[in-house]
Amino acid sequence: MNKIVFVDLSNKKVSIRYIKDQDVLRSGRKFAECYINDNIKQNTKYLSEENFIVISPGLLTGTLAPCTGRLSISTKTNDDIKTINIAGPIAQKIASLDIKAIVITGKCLKGTSVLHVNENGVSLNNISETEYGEVEKTIDFLQNKWGKETSVLGIGPAGEHILPIGSLFNSYPNGTPKYHCTRGKIGDLFGYKGLKAIAVTTKKHFGADISDEDNFKQLTKKISKVITEHPVCGKALPAFGSITLIELMKDKNKFLQKLSSNNNKETIEKNINTKINKNCAPNCVIGCLNKHSEKTGYIYSSPAESEAVAACKNLFAIDDTSFVSAIHRECFEFGMDTIEFLFSCKMLSEVTGEKKITKAKIKDYLAEVKELTLVGRVLASTTKGIHNLYVGRKDVVKLVTRSAKVEEENFKIKIPTKPDELSDISDLHYLYGFMLVMESLGICLFTSFAILDDKKGLTLINDLVNAKTGQNYKEAELIYKALNTYNNDVPEFVKVLYRYYGEENENRV
Ligand code: SF4
Repeated sequence: MNKIVFVDLSNKKVSIRYIKDQDVLRSGRKFAECYINDNIKQNTKYLSEENFIVISPGLLTGTLAPCTGRLSISTKTNDDIKTINIAGPIAQKIASLDIKAIVITGKCLKGTSVLHVNENGVSLNNISETEYGEVEKTIDFLQNKWGKETSVLGIGPAGEHILPIGSLFNSYPNGTPKYHCTRGKIGDLFGYKGLKAIAVTTKKHFGADISDEDNFKQLTKKISKVITEHPVCGKALPAFGSITLIELMKDKNKFLQKLSSNNNKETIEKNINTKINKNCAPNCVIGCLNKHSEKTGYIYSSPAESEAVAACKNLFAIDDTSFVSAIHRECFEFGMDTIEFLFSCKMLSEVTGEKKITKAKIKDYLAEVKELTLVGRVLASTTKGIHNLYVGRKDVVKLVTRSAKVEEENFKIKIPTKPDELSDISDLHYLYGFMLVMESLGICLFTSFAILDDKKGLTLINDLVNAKTGQNYKEAELIYKALNTYNNDVPEFVKVLYRYYGEENENRV
């Protein structure tokens, strides 16, 4: 992948540059963060014309290596660089079109734009029909316009109204149900810049170049086996989906014990005949989405629905799947993260002294956000924004969604498979380096349990990189290279790995 697409929204210009990057590992997250570091002025504001949005698929994305359909999207915040990692066929399609990155700058002066990429080139389009459009309608419209082989990444009305709670959506593979995802943040930056969506049309998912195809194929089989034979990746995630992560966070030992005494994979009954969407991108060997439906017949409309059900139970003692499903659907269509919204509801009710939050109250709060009222805007400022209004209130601090880094000191991390050559770095830093490597290669972080638990896991990953690129990297080199650009920002997923690989310190904060 040597093509970089530059998009200047202010002047409506698109240009393509070919680069010969000697450091083949500058892909995915590493490419996006390095590009911003090297090219942006330090005083650039988050919401500004000058800020970049850099989108880059991982080095292994667009190949048949398992679970590699990930895309990194980075930008500069007022203090740092923020990266979000999303899954979907769009990552594989971008990589298959030989595109290493899309770099977006500027700001549309009128209306909103949709960037379209296909085998013939790249174009910026003004499409009024999708302006302030809900998520699914936007995906449908763009897929009708450019064909079913179009994958879409973009924002809903929340982002277009420049609300901090605005997320990015991405379309999942076609199938039943129509199953897409709205997660993370930075929807407000897309909205500020007037970029409604990026649509990529191609049939290709696995068109990326590989230096040593035969070896790559063999390694792909080996790594798939490591992943599917692992109790969390091969058993729990396919059986329970992302709820697995919540269970691991609550009580790792209890959950793993339950897992070893119960073969969940075999107890799944086939109560459903339809072929349903289980992967967020083709060629994932875990398929953590919607597997439960084979047993219950109930199909989630989006991956975060099960987490929203759990959050409602924990935060408000509301145990009503159809109610949560309806709320989640509205949040999704509006283009915001349901979990973030529920935490904002909890925080606002606490600070305003609301004793018990009811289903009716949650519905009211959601209506306030959608109508952009003052209360709605406070909720949409997320727990961070609400906290800023109540800085002196100590009881409120604990409700702010804490970044992964804040939790770091609560755990003593031990990774038994850490290579001897890396004895000069702590296990915690090894963990960070490993995750950054995974994000640069475009591998889903859910595979971390299997790869980190296997003595040969890192070697297999390193061998895949060498087979893909024809280079001769060493395992330790990958980790050091990743840590070179570590800027204190680790994916939120590390919170699960802290608990999986760590012992909790007695004096936790
Ligand atoms: S494990 Fe789940 S989240 Fe990861 S790539 Fe597969 S389906 Fe997507």
